[in-house]
Amino acid sequence: ADAAFDLKAHIRGIPDFPKPGILFYDISTLLRHGPAWKAAMDLLAERIRPARPTLLAGIESRGFLMAAPMALELGLGFIMLRKPRKLPGATIGYDYDLEYGTDRIEMQADAVKPGDRVVLLDDLLATGGTMAAGVELLRRGGAEVPMVATLIELTFLNGRARIDAPVETLVAYD
Ligand code: IMP
Repeated sequence: ADAAFDLKAHIRGIPDFPKPGILFYDISTLLRHGPAWKAAMDLLAERIRPARPTLLAGIESRGFLMAAPMALELGLGFIMLRKPRKLPGATIGYDYDLEYGTDRIEMQADAVKPGDRVVLLDDLLATGGTMAAGVELLRRGGAEVPMVATLIELTFLNGRARIDAPVETLVAYD
């Protein structure tokens, strides 16, 4: 991968989305640019390889856009962590607290087996609540989680402190 590749040049900040006062980092501009998306995936792949995953997981929905191409790049399988009631068949879930209220993520009950080493991906790490829930769900299924990885980290929220696994991110905003 090209070390001079400027990932931040392909991410745009959109003010007041989804509500006033929030600056939303939008990866649509990255995904729309084939060579940039590929370069970002290559850089992230080099961070993930040392964790020696046997499987990758993505969190709905932008996490799928990271984890599925990464799985193809690394020659691994991919599993989905989804919002409630989206997955067919037997599922297991994990409930977690939000600023106001609670949320839940689910995976299929047979998605992971004991001994699987699952690296979990998403587009962005903010408070870390989503990633922390994903790690707990994967472990509940019997998997090891040797790493979580995102493209973007909002360092001022200190999300990595909430995650009980090594965290790799490519760019930080504070
Ligand atoms: P957390 O649980 O607070 O770490 O929030 C992370 C989740 O919210 C991820 O699934 C992100 O996709 C989403 N998210 C939060 N802020 C942003 C943003 O600025 N841009 C894109 N996604 C965001």
